[in-house]
Amino acid sequence: MIKRAFLASLLMLAACATTPVAEHPAQPMNLTELKEQLLDYHDSGAYERDVAVVAEEARIWIVQRAPQVERPAIVFDIDETTISNWTRTLANDYGYFVDGPCDRLPRGPCGAFAYEDGAMGDAIAPMLATYQAAREADVAVFFITGRREQRRAGTERNLRRVGYTEWAGVVLRPAQGPSTPAADYKGPQRARIEAMGYTIIANIGDQQSDLDGGHAERTFLVPNPFYRIH
Ligand SMILES: [Mg+2]
Repeated sequence: MIKRAFLASLLMLAACATTPVAEHPAQPMNLTELKEQLLDYHDSGAYERDVAVVAEEARIWIVQRAPQVERPAIVFDIDETTISNWTRTLANDYGYFVDGPCDRLPRGPCGAFAYEDGAMGDAIAPMLATYQAAREADVAVFFITGRREQRRAGTERNLRRVGYTEWAGVVLRPAQGPSTPAADYKGPQRARIEAMGYTIIANIGDQQSDLDGGHAERTFLVPNPFYRIH
């Protein structure tokens, strides 16, 4: 009797092991509470502190490495790496709208293209310091952004206005064409810079897709919990 019960238990265990368990996603976080956390992360100073840690690591590496290579260069992403769009992000309550005016700040709504054409972004101060150290070390600076060519004038004006006054190149996506994944666009652009004879000693971005695809000695990822670019 005991033997039979034991056998039955074994069979049940075997059945359990082979029966697929239905997977349910965990209950997502409440969006209002997540927004409150993001606001606190930004306004407490923790965000800038975390950015500053990475910017300082990059600065130390760049200044040390630059004299050791031929034609040293660095690559920066723009949005949330060198320029902060926090004002727009907050005005849109963490939403993103391509079209429409941006004439109601700080309340919003704020269209992204109008905002970019208006050169309204702010400097990310720790990264501006890294940029300045790189320039003092005679490192060529390239910006590679997912913004398209139509936004070049406003983008360059914004960079200059907040202190990024010199560069070897600002690379934007073509005016037309599909929105390929960022890494598929940015990696080959870094390869082009290398083909010009530069050694990319650092690549700095706020998205993993800024950094994937190689063509840099070291990569540096600053935090951005506010949005994701694939
Ligand atoms: Mg970015």
